[in-house]
Order: sequence, then structure tokens, then C-alpha cells
Amino acid sequence: MSETLLNETREEADKRLITRAYRNLLRSIKAKTDKTDKVNIRAAYELAVDAHKEQRRKSGEPYVLHPIEVARICAAEIGLGATAVICALLHDVVEDTPITLKELKEQFGERVGLIVDGLTKLDFKSEDSTDVESPQAENFKKVLSTLVVDVRVVLIKMADRLHNMRTLGAMPPHKQVKIAAETSFIYSPLAHRLGLYKMKTEFEDLSMKITNRDVYLDIARKLKDTKKGRDRYIKQFIHPLEKEFKENMVPYRTTGRTKSIYSIWNKLKTKKVPFEEIYDLFAVRIIVDVPPSKEKSICWQVYSIITDVYQPIPERLKDWVTVPKANGYESLHTTVVGPKGRFVEVQIRSERMDDIAERGFAAHWKYKKVSKSPNVYDSWLNNVREILDNSSMDAIDFLNDFKTNLFNEEVYVYTPNGDMRVLPKGATALDFAFDIHSDVGYHATAIKVNNKLEPMGYQLKNGDRLHITTNKSQKPTESWLKMVATGKARNKIRSAMKEQKKKEGQIGRETLERKFKNIKADFVESNIELFAKHLKYKSHVDLYFDISKEKLNATELLKNFTVEGGKLVLIPVKVEKLPQKTVVAKPVDLTKPRSGLHINGESADNLDYSFATCCHPVPGDAVFAYVSNNGLKIHRSNCPNATNLAAKYGYRIMRADWTNITTTNFVANLVITGVDTGIGVIESITHTISTDLGLNIRSFNIASNEGIYECSISLQIKDTAQLTLVIKTLKQISGVDMVTRLE
Ligand code: MN
Repeated sequence: MSETLLNETREEADKRLITRAYRNLLRSIKAKTDKTDKVNIRAAYELAVDAHKEQRRKSGEPYVLHPIEVARICAAEIGLGATAVICALLHDVVEDTPITLKELKEQFGERVGLIVDGLTKLDFKSEDSTDVESPQAENFKKVLSTLVVDVRVVLIKMADRLHNMRTLGAMPPHKQVKIAAETSFIYSPLAHRLGLYKMKTEFEDLSMKITNRDVYLDIARKLKDTKKGRDRYIKQFIHPLEKEFKENMVPYRTTGRTKSIYSIWNKLKTKKVPFEEIYDLFAVRIIVDVPPSKEKSICWQVYSIITDVYQPIPERLKDWVTVPKANGYESLHTTVVGPKGRFVEVQIRSERMDDIAERGFAAHWKYKKVSKSPNVYDSWLNNVREILDNSSMDAIDFLNDFKTNLFNEEVYVYTPNGDMRVLPKGATALDFAFDIHSDVGYHATAIKVNNKLEPMGYQLKNGDRLHITTNKSQKPTESWLKMVATGKARNKIRSAMKEQKKKEGQIGRETLERKFKNIKADFVESNIELFAKHLKYKSHVDLYFDISKEKLNATELLKNFTVEGGKLVLIPVKVEKLPQKTVVAKPVDLTKPRSGLHINGESADNLDYSFATCCHPVPGDAVFAYVSNNGLKIHRSNCPNATNLAAKYGYRIMRADWTNITTTNFVANLVITGVDTGIGVIESITHTISTDLGLNIRSFNIASNEGIYECSISLQIKDTAQLTLVIKTLKQISGVDMVTRLE
């Protein structure tokens, strides 16, 4: 009796949660919706609630809250319309419930069916399959293929990923690492490329929170502690400007924006200064509300007002108003010397530009008619299509190619008659030739950059003006592959060379045909295929080519076959029965620490594992196990190497954690820096470590430069608690400025 009551209460509570989430979703739809849209959204909602009614999320809440929240993100944070909201509501229905795609198509139409189908195929739930070398890279290829079908597939997928990242806490740690790695490897660059800055930033921060939790929390705390002072400073900075703006009658608003934790962390790493010494933790943004025709002149007017009050740093001026970034970003950035001599970055833009900067791709369509700039996304999507068309490339190559070509910053160069071309940073003069036209690329003989003859591998710089001379007799060679950086050019060169190979292979083909005739085998596809396969050739072109170059002796090799009625038959090779391989249990390695390490919940003491030398984990570190070709490797969760691995080979990741920690056999690398006063800092350091702390020093290195010393020490220690103590103690030594653990 009481149990039924309890169940009812729970059901009711669920229902209340679901209804509230749905109302919240409806409120967040900003795009225009007509009556049909409203009916369809309601129907999709009801279908999803019913279809997922038996499922719960890892956190225990009703599953349907997830698709509802994904739909809300699509509407509120990306600004998508009714179709996307419907698809987001239905995105897990086909995968997880008995509802079929056909049923969805019948009820909601072709387009919804197409998008949901794309989303279903993108689902990474089949991650356990190990038959593909890199499922993640394959998946990435899939993500991009759907991108060219309907961009909304990818946008909804990103909303899906964002919600999963926001609620990642309910997942076991090793899964968190895998998902975080994949997010920073694939989704944040993709969000960047699609101009979804806000989402990109959140992806980066959420991933960092998993992979570098301590640093993340540390920066977050420091930001919080310094917030008041920062707000005061921003006020002080804006105050004298406001008067000027009002006098000049520009409708505007200002915001002071703190940079993301991830980008602050990057600054700390690249500038190698402590948090307290980073002054550009924020940017001041001035957003003017003006019609598109006046945007540019008003932005510059605002610039002029600001630089009348504050001294600008000319080399920090960035004008993406005149020439938008290739991902659509428009804004005018400058850095000025603010009160107390501090550098302050100022971003000037219109409401429209701000909208595009925040919501990227989705907002772009809204302003398609008013913006005079060419559609940056169309040309980008064309590039994506071109890379995808080259299906022969394997997934890992593809991924690398893609990352260098389509996520990079860009460089702006000019044709002789002044047309601007945008190429990815790192592109060469030869890339430019292929970008103009494939024929120009194929036949390029000499390239002049700014009227000066340069090699074809010359790396393009902003503002270069290029002139290409062609000659019909010129043709690409293998070495050209080293002189290009874009996938487009590389693909064109590869296919030209394949063509060339095919031509030269013609002789080999004729040779093989003759040899087949000699033994009375038919020269047909099935026979050639059998022969090629026997020799492990993937393509006939390569086989013919090698025969023509006399790398193969077809007569000899055909002796392995008999012919039956024109059909080639492989003579079976007698194989001696191999002795059964006996697996001997590995004797317990006494030199290996009894570490209390557990892998997948089981003690690792009997497993053949080792600690990765890239990140030297110590007990207590957040770690995971990676199944490498040389056995199990234990990496720290924040190991940059491992992040890369996890993103590419997520299925090889296993959970690892520590229980009771008892040994003293782990290596941690520390870097200590300070001013070299010549009064025995080094002695103090070594003395503190070996005598006071009683630790073993494995290696010790010291370098001194212009009065600053940098000392690298490798220590044997017990666990993170001890490590923390070591760092704390070392920091107290006079003459020691910084102590950091090497990642
Ligand atoms: Mn989902």
C-alpha cells in the first residue's frame, strides 16, 4: 500500500519535472513558428515522453529530460527553429526505442527523417567495436558527412554533446576522460569553425574541468576572489567614455567580459607568469545598435572616441569589420593603455556582429540578406565536401588533414588583379596555384610573390600578391606533396599521380595478360583479383605498375596456381601445425611496486602494466589505463598525449584507480626556478629534499641564464599528498620562486 503511494509520488514528481522542462523549452523558442510547427513540436514532445518512459539517465532522472534540454539548447543557445527543435526532441528515439525512422518520416516528413537519421548514425554508442582502427576518426568523418547533408545535424549533435558534458558528473571517471578528450579534439574546433564561440569556450572549459581539474578549480577560485576589483576597474575604464558616447549620440551598450578559464590557463602556460601578473583577464566590449549600412563607419567612430581618451597600441589593432574572419566573425579589436597603465582589450561591434559572434553559423542565416560579405560558410562547406570526396584516404589521415586544413587560422593573399583569396595558415604558393584552378596547379612552373621569384613551397603571408606562370608540359611529381599544406592540393596531386601510374602500368597489365594466356587462364576480373589478393595488393593499378617496373616476376608467382577451365586456383600451401602457444602466468614482478592500483575494478598487481613515461603518474593522481600495443599503460588523466589517444582510440581506455597506497617507488618531475644569488640555493634544495624530507633524488639538472636558474629534479615519492608537501616545502626556501610539476 505504502509502496504504491511512494511510486505514485515519484511518477508525479517525474511528470512535474518533465512538464516544467517542456514549458521552459517552449519559452526559449525565439524563431517564428506557425500553427503547424506548434502542433508538430507538441507531437514530437509527446512521442519522446512516451518512447523514453522506461529509461533513466545515469543521474537517475527521467531520460526524456535529456532530449528536451537538447532541444532547448538548440532554440535558446544556437537560435535554431522549429524543425531543429522537433529533431532534437526525437534524436534518441530511433536508437533507443522501438520507434522506426519510417514512422517518424510518415508523421513529421522527409526532412525531419533525414536529420534524425543523421543523428542516429552519429551516435557513438557502438563504441565497443574494435574492428575499425580508429572509431573516433571514423565517427569524425561521419560527423562531417552529415554536415554537408544538413548542417542542423551537426548543430543538434553539438547541443547533444554540450548537454552531456554539462551533466558528465554522473559518469564513471574513465568515461569522463574519454568524452572530454573527444570533445576537445573534435567538437570544440568544430564549434570554433562554425563560429559558435560561446559553445566552443564552454566545451573547452568543461573538458579542462575533467582533464585538469586542480588547475581549473584553482583559476576559478582566483577569478572569483578578484572579481570585485576587476568590476571596479572596468567601471572606471568605461566611465570617461560614456560621456563621449552620449555626446556623440551613438546608441550602445558595454560589457566587461572575463576570459574563459581555459584561455587564461593557456596564457599562464605560454607567458609563464603567475596568475597575479596576467592583466588581460577581461575584455571590454562596446556594442552599437545601428543599421547595417552604418556599422563600419560607426565602429571606427567608436574606435576614434576610445583612442582619444586612451593611448592605443597600434600593433594590437585587428580589423575584422572590413575583412571578416573565414568563420564569419566580425569585430574591431584594439588594445589601449587604461587607468593605472594597464593594457585593456576593447572589442567594438554592432548588435548584428555580436549575434554572429555568439551564435555563429545559425545567426549567419538570419542576416544573410543584409550582409554584403560573401557567404563564408558556403565556401567552407565546399572545402569540406572536396576533402570528403577523396574517400580513399584512411580515417586517421583524413582527421589530421582536416584538422590542419579546416580548423586553422587563415591567411589573405591576392591575385595579380587584386582579387582576395583566403587560404589556411601554413598554405604555400603551390597551394595557392591549386586554389585558383587545378590546371593552374598541375602546370605551375614558376611563382612570383610580390614580383620576386620564390620556390613553390613558399609559405604565404598576409597581403602577398602572387603571379603564377604555367607550362602545359609541366606535371606533378611525388615531391610536390611535400610542398603543399592544403588537402585540396594534396588530393589533386595524388590523383594526378595515380593517373600517371595507371598510364605507366599499362605495360604491366599487358605483360600479365600475356602470362595468363600462357597458362591458359582467362584474363578476367575474378582471376586478377585472386592474384592481386594473393600478393596483398589493394589496387590493380599498383600491381600493374610494379609488374611494369619489373618489381614482380609474374611467371614465378603464377607457379603457385593451377588453372581449371580458365579459372585460377591457388595451390594450398602445406602448413606445419604450429605448436600450441602456452600462456605462462607472469611471475609477480617484485621490482614493481605493490601499488594498490586497480584496473577496471581489479587489482593490477597481476596484470602486465607500466607507467607511462610521458606523464609519470604517482599514486593518488587521477589516472586511466590505455591498452597500447605494448601492454597496459597508466597515464595521468591530464596527460596531453593521453588526451590525444583517448580522442582517437577511446575504446582502448580502461578505468584505473588507486586504493590503499603503500609504496615509495614513483617518479615525479619538478622544475624549480628562481634568482641565482650564488649563495647556495641549490644546496638548500638538495638538502631539504634528501635530509629534511628523506626522499630519493633520481636525477638532477640545473641551468642558469642571466641570473635566473632553472633546476629539474626527478624524485621518488609516495603519493600526491607527499608531492604536495614537497612542493610546499620547496617554495619556502629563500631564493626559490616557483616550483611546478612537469606535465
Ligand atoms: Mn543524446
